[in-house]
Amino acid sequence: MLKLYNSLTRKLEEFQPTKKNQVGLYTCGPTVYNYQHIGNLRSSIFADLLFRTLNYNGLKVKWVMNITDIDDKTIKNTTIEYGPQANVANLRTFTDRYLNAFKEDIKKINLSIKSVKFIRVLDVVDEIKHFIKSLIKKGYAYKTADGVYFNIEKYQQNFGDYGKLVGENFLKGQKLGVRVRVDEYDKENLSDFALWKAKEEDDANIFWENAELGRGRPGWHIECSVINYIAFKSSTTDIHTGGVDLIFPHHTNEIAQTQPIYKPFVNYWLHGEHLLVAGEKMAKSKGNVYVLDDLIKKLNINPLAFRYLILTSHYRSKLNFTWESLQAAQNALNNLYTEISAYEKPKIGCAEYEQNFLEAINNDLDTPKALAVVWDLIRSDYPGHAKLQSLLKFDKVLGLKLRETWKASQKIPATLKKLLTAREQARAAKDFQKSDDLRHQIESQGFIIEDLSHGYRLKKKF
Ligand SMILES: [Zn+2]
Repeated sequence: MLKLYNSLTRKLEEFQPTKKNQVGLYTCGPTVYNYQHIGNLRSSIFADLLFRTLNYNGLKVKWVMNITDIDDKTIKNTTIEYGPQANVANLRTFTDRYLNAFKEDIKKINLSIKSVKFIRVLDVVDEIKHFIKSLIKKGYAYKTADGVYFNIEKYQQNFGDYGKLVGENFLKGQKLGVRVRVDEYDKENLSDFALWKAKEEDDANIFWENAELGRGRPGWHIECSVINYIAFKSSTTDIHTGGVDLIFPHHTNEIAQTQPIYKPFVNYWLHGEHLLVAGEKMAKSKGNVYVLDDLIKKLNINPLAFRYLILTSHYRSKLNFTWESLQAAQNALNNLYTEISAYEKPKIGCAEYEQNFLEAINNDLDTPKALAVVWDLIRSDYPGHAKLQSLLKFDKVLGLKLRETWKASQKIPATLKKLLTAREQARAAKDFQKSDDLRHQIESQGFIIEDLSHGYRLKKKF
């Protein structure tokens, strides 16, 4: 039984998909105006762990991630680069660069990229226009000189749950009817928000035409509502994920915009916590905004060490990133690789550990506990082939490339084989000086040799 913490009910709930064995999973993807920092990548890894856990439980998952290529920030940066004549084609070229960089990054940290259906906002502007027009028709949106806005008061009258994701009494004492044009604002500035923003001078030539809506472009929040609507054919999305910073206004507004069209919009809302750097929020002004390549270059790490680090904390806990913690994650991952390199071909796994692992991940993706099960199994008395069988199974969720690494470690160069045979002969002849010399030669080739009562065990150093 898989239990997930639902932000909407603030409870740990047993997960039940709307359709038997089929899950619709939606993840708020990156805004491609710049390179994604490691906090954004933590969110992506969290969504990937969820996807893999659903699969592990035998569920078929349709996973959709939007790409925000139309918003205040992408347009601003495109006009900076292309100047006052910047147009929609320039916006696409500009955002391509950061979308491609994002895809490169998530490949490096082993996201199940082939299973993700990416949908770019640039490709669905017509559907967005159509959706906004439906909201106007139903009386939930109204036109002004600078665009089309969502009417929170009207929504509240008919649904009574605006802001439920933030808290039950969110609207108590709040003044309604004020308007906000920008995509991002805080709870203190609760306002009717823009669905369609009339073209302004700062937008250069980045705009779309529509007889009813006028010249303009979609607001940020409506994009995700429409992409869910398209991807899941106007039926309830089972699970919607994102970072905690998206609860308000983004997800709150997504719910409000969609429910006049179909309800419920989403059954389970899951939110990942922030990543802090040395105890502080990442900010350009502090110079602590890191991207994946910064990590790889500075410590010369395997990018999967970053994934391992993310696994060491629960997704609903803040994770404090430090260089020491990253180095420790790299060491742990290397030790794991070294251990499995000594294991023989996988056979039958270890049922009790498999049970413990399943319980850990099915308890709201408790990855720290799941990793503890991994190390308990490695320290256990089970034979290597049994340990490996279970570890490869666990790796379907963990995504640390254990199979590839183990396979590669089994390729022993011919020169090494000769040294190993020579050392066995020296030991048999009790020529300990020679056997010791040969051990050093073996170690210099990147292997560790451990003598057993009968024979030896060879491990590859990582
Ligand atoms: Zn979104």
